[in-house]
Amino acid sequence: MNHVLLLQLPIPRQNFGRKTGNIPLGAACLKQAARGLPGVRVDLLPERTASYLGDAALLNLLSGHTSDVFGFTVFSWNLERSLYLSEKLKAAGGGRVVFGGPEVTPDNPLVRSAHVDFLACGEGEGVFRRLLTEPGSWQTGSGGESAAEIFRTAESPYLSGVLEPEAGDLMLLETQRGCPYRCGFCFYNKSRQGLVFAEESMLLRAVAWAVERRIAEVYLLDPSLNARPQLKALLADIARLNVDRRVRLFSEIRAEAVDDELADVLAAAGFYWFEIGLQSTNPRALKLMNRPTRLERFVEGAQRLKARGITPSIDLIIGLPGDDLQGFMRSVDFVADHGLQDDVQIFPLAVLPGTDFRKRRRELGLRFDPHPPYTVTGTRGFSHEDFLLAYDYAETRLDAVFFPLPDLDVSWRAGGAGGDVEKSSDLCVPLGGRWYVAKLLLNRERPFEEIRLLARQLTHPYQVLVGPGVGVGYLKIVLKIATDENPFTPLEIVFFEPSEPPRTRELLAAVRLRRPHFLDGDLRFLFAKPGNRAVLFTLVSADPAARFQGDMERQAFWWRRPALPELKDLAGFEELDGILIDSPVSAREIAAWQDRLGREAAEKHHISFADAHLQRRWLLLASPGEYVEKVMDWMGRG
Ligand code: SF4
Repeated sequence: MNHVLLLQLPIPRQNFGRKTGNIPLGAACLKQAARGLPGVRVDLLPERTASYLGDAALLNLLSGHTSDVFGFTVFSWNLERSLYLSEKLKAAGGGRVVFGGPEVTPDNPLVRSAHVDFLACGEGEGVFRRLLTEPGSWQTGSGGESAAEIFRTAESPYLSGVLEPEAGDLMLLETQRGCPYRCGFCFYNKSRQGLVFAEESMLLRAVAWAVERRIAEVYLLDPSLNARPQLKALLADIARLNVDRRVRLFSEIRAEAVDDELADVLAAAGFYWFEIGLQSTNPRALKLMNRPTRLERFVEGAQRLKARGITPSIDLIIGLPGDDLQGFMRSVDFVADHGLQDDVQIFPLAVLPGTDFRKRRRELGLRFDPHPPYTVTGTRGFSHEDFLLAYDYAETRLDAVFFPLPDLDVSWRAGGAGGDVEKSSDLCVPLGGRWYVAKLLLNRERPFEEIRLLARQLTHPYQVLVGPGVGVGYLKIVLKIATDENPFTPLEIVFFEPSEPPRTRELLAAVRLRRPHFLDGDLRFLFAKPGNRAVLFTLVSADPAARFQGDMERQAFWWRRPALPELKDLAGFEELDGILIDSPVSAREIAAWQDRLGREAAEKHHISFADAHLQRRWLLLASPGEYVEKVMDWMGRG
């Protein structure tokens, strides 16, 4: 019997319970393709378990699995963590390891590892079946083959019961593989030769299923929806199924291709949002990235969508070859001048393995971080400072924040009004039938053996809540233990009324996270100075004087007054980064306060609640659609 476990690790986040979008669709396609193979059993690690367990807890779970093959779907954000887990599994005598996904390209040296037995390039279904049926095929160590026929006629894995719209009530629908365009920064067009489209009958069955099951959102995974032949007819059929646009549809499209007729059928089908790559308006940059764009038609297409209530979400890239700061600013102006700034995403160029830009990096003068996410650090047109200036300009011109601080969640107790940090306990959440620790409470110096056990049960991410009486020497040892066990899991350290401001540098020196962490690269332009981006420090104090506000440092006011604050009270703390509400009033009163002031308060302030259940209620109210309610089912562990 071949027993396979497939898993996909999430983009690292700094708030526990936030939606991760970590839907293992690729793994589900593999499982479906292996159906009926004799002597084969394929399991998927459920989305929530894969997304919210810390490194040690995940490793413990995998080690207890009886699989003889572990398959990882590898993206830039999970490559190093996947390699770490593979190494640990191998060291523990685990089975074979196979990597597939966009990071597996012939020119990516980072995926080559003694702990990975096979690298599957491009589409996985055919290779996967071969590995499971022809034992000798492992010997080549890598390979790839077209899965066009399997894909074209395959049912959506949701319909075959392989995948559930789990954490986010979101269904992914793969409609096409391959892309007709050849953008220099993109790997997707290289992942397969030519295009293949899923059969229309399969897509319609999937949409009908989503409508029937009242799935909230369906994302059509399609690099350019307009590339599909007979698209308008398909959309008309979808519109007939999705009466009243009950299911919200999302996808990506080339704006130049959107005429009035197409815009009408997109709206009728239920589309609400499209990701639209503009990237730049600089003719030289567009030419070098091989992305000819007719700007007038682009604007017309985007505005046609907007006129029908469909949000065009415009992508721009900073640091493209051929561009410079002035050119980027003109691109931003172009978006703003044409009223397309409702939703703009701005990325620094990532020089991805397998792309033309990676191949031509010297000729194009691209300097970039060799670690994921391979962010460009300098070009002939952009200095390091230019990237920061570019983000500053875009934030001002578009009235947007591109690197928001994580939501404030410094809740520390579950249930009951009032109480002290000293009398509280760790806060746990249920995942996959077991309880894990998302908030480790240090309200006294607990034995290190106990800390070591808890460190193996931490979530991804987690918090260390530090009470007033805990010494820095003790805390450093706790952090070392926790991060030794979880070297890839982001964490937040929250200090309640410390006698002195936390000694951040000293504590960071004790932290054993693998460096550079993905977040160090991904949030490179968050602060001017290089350094830590994966450990957040938060100070909570009833002293309103601002005294802790450096990089990755923030301070919240501890509101313990008898009555709940009004908006004018909150306005008194604008110098700080937020307010923790901990008045000795009933949960019902606090819930009523949230309902009364919620929207307005959340727009102006970062607010948290001492009680974790009320905090969850607040996050769901203030950040609708951003959190998974069921994973925040808090319980104290005394
Ligand atoms: S960026 Fe989009 S349009 Fe360009 S090649 Fe990649 S998938 Fe195709």
